[in-house]
Amino acid sequence: MSGIIHKSYDTKGEGHQVIVTRVDAAVNWIRKNSCWPQPMGLACCAIELMAAGASRFDIARFGAEVMRFSPRQSDCMIVAGTCVYKMAGVVKRVWDQMPAPKWCIAMGACASTGGMYRSYSVVQGVDHFLPVDVYISGCSTARSAA
Ligand code: SF4
Repeated sequence: MSGIIHKSYDTKGEGHQVIVTRVDAAVNWIRKNSCWPQPMGLACCAIELMAAGASRFDIARFGAEVMRFSPRQSDCMIVAGTCVYKMAGVVKRVWDQMPAPKWCIAMGACASTGGMYRSYSVVQGVDHFLPVDVYISGCSTARSAA
C-alpha cells in the first residue's frame, strides 16, 4: 500500500488486525485498484475489449470488470479502435463528461497511432485530443490474418 503510513498489530488473543491510515490515502488506494472503465469501442479492437471482460481473460482480476456506459460513473476511458475525425468530437465530449481524476488507455495500433490507416479521415492517434496515459501496441486483426 504505497503512500500510506500505517501501523498494524495482531492482538493475538482475539485474532484481529488493525490498520491505521489516513482517509484520503485509503480512498486513493481503493480508487487506484478499482478502475471503472468507460468503454469507447470504435472498431475491431472493441471486440478484443469485450473478450477481455469475458471468462477467458477475465479483467475482473484487476477489479475492472464493471464497465460503465455512463461517463459520470467512469474514471478510465479505454479507446478501442480506429478513430475517425467524424467520431473524435463525440469521444472528446464523453471524455469531458467524466469526473477527475481520470485516465485514458489507447488500445491497439489504431487508437495509438492511426495504425495502418494513413487516411485523411483517420485521426493519427487519439492523443491528438485526449491525454493518453497508457498505449497498448499491436493489432489483433493483423494477428488473426497472419
Ligand atoms: S489496431 Fe487492428 S484490431 Fe485494433 S482497431 Fe485497428 S485494425 Fe482493428
